[in-house]
Amino acid sequence: MWIKRGREKPIRNRHPWIYSGAISQAEKAADGDLVRVVDHKGRFLARGYWNSQSQIQARILSWRDEAIDEAWWRRALSRAASLRAIRCVENGVDSENAAYRLLNAENDFVPGLIIDRYADWYVLQALTRYIDNQKPAIAAALADVTGARNIYERSDVEARKREGLQPAVGLLKGGPLPDVVEIDEEARFLVDIQRGQKTGFYLDQRDNRRLLGELVRRRCEESRDQARLLNVFSYSGGFALAAGNFDRLHSVNVDASRPALELAERNFQLNGYDESAHGETVEFIQADAFDYLRYCARERELFDFVVLDPPKLAQRKSQAQRAARGYKDLNLSAFKLVKAGGYLMSFSCSGAVSRKLFRKIVFGALADSGRGAQVIGQLSAASDHPVALSFPEGDYLKGLLLRVF
Ligand code: SAH
Repeated sequence: MWIKRGREKPIRNRHPWIYSGAISQAEKAADGDLVRVVDHKGRFLARGYWNSQSQIQARILSWRDEAIDEAWWRRALSRAASLRAIRCVENGVDSENAAYRLLNAENDFVPGLIIDRYADWYVLQALTRYIDNQKPAIAAALADVTGARNIYERSDVEARKREGLQPAVGLLKGGPLPDVVEIDEEARFLVDIQRGQKTGFYLDQRDNRRLLGELVRRRCEESRDQARLLNVFSYSGGFALAAGNFDRLHSVNVDASRPALELAERNFQLNGYDESAHGETVEFIQADAFDYLRYCARERELFDFVVLDPPKLAQRKSQAQRAARGYKDLNLSAFKLVKAGGYLMSFSCSGAVSRKLFRKIVFGALADSGRGAQVIGQLSAASDHPVALSFPEGDYLKGLLLRVF
């Protein structure tokens, strides 16, 4: 595949995507084939794969002129696994029930592939045609490198449409499929790998859940008064469960999804929450979060902690403006609900909304709320979601920890 003169720089700088505009001549490659990428003089640039149906027509697998074969797959997975080994030791979660992202697609230099581990299950997500074709080889290499006995596929994501692919789910190795898998984090969580969102759990928020847990524990040590947490977009209860302290912390968990809240309820029980012993300190509210926040603001409710972890409101750059209104609306209501001296943890997982823009939006909401706030933490995804420095698009999760007055 030939790159137009003057368009090779991003490739040399290791950006992994090649758009049609940069390509002068594509070989007779079939969609999903490997291609060798050369500059206008025929000099080697990279090896990657091709899909004419995708806007991103080629994605790069290697900047070396090497074979992409079984040994390559084993090397790629070993490199990713070695990073997680360090992280696991750091975080003390190197247990049987460990859960982490083993491979983070472009950011681990394997575009189009995500692999998450949940205890003895590995869940694979194939986002592009070449990766889709390679599933048997990937499963074999994964078993070789990690000893994985059970591999499940959850390739039921919108992004596949842009590659001309249908959703695909099913067992790739081992089994039988469990109802749920139990993992250890700050708390114990049940993960529904078959029906849950994403591959079953929001692993990227692990460090931020832990941070909230620390703040809540400190608050509970300082004051005997019951603290209140509003956990908005709670999914299976993540932030509230990491905060624990069921006897001292009242948590209100809000999500639009009934199955998510049902799983949250099971997770609270798994962690020893007992309604009669703890005095009904946990609420599950199935509601649209935008409406619910406005309702709380009208009722003049107050919380010591508010967490806002909305789904991706902008799928692409063109939706950033509309998404900005959504983020502002949420944050404006949230500011009104935080007690003086309390905390707001506010996130955006939209790649199309930059850190700078997000901060501007949250500032706009603050100004309209008439409150004051200090940034005391700039938040990101946990380290098992590394970001390739040459791939700014990988830095999707951004958050602010704010003290509000
Ligand atoms: N904080 C969670 C992850 C949140 S993911 C954790 O730590 O695990 C975003 C959640 O928002 C999903 O559970 C989804 O069901 C929910 N959601 C999406 N749109 C919503 C809406 N309009 N109102 C309330 N919840 C919504």
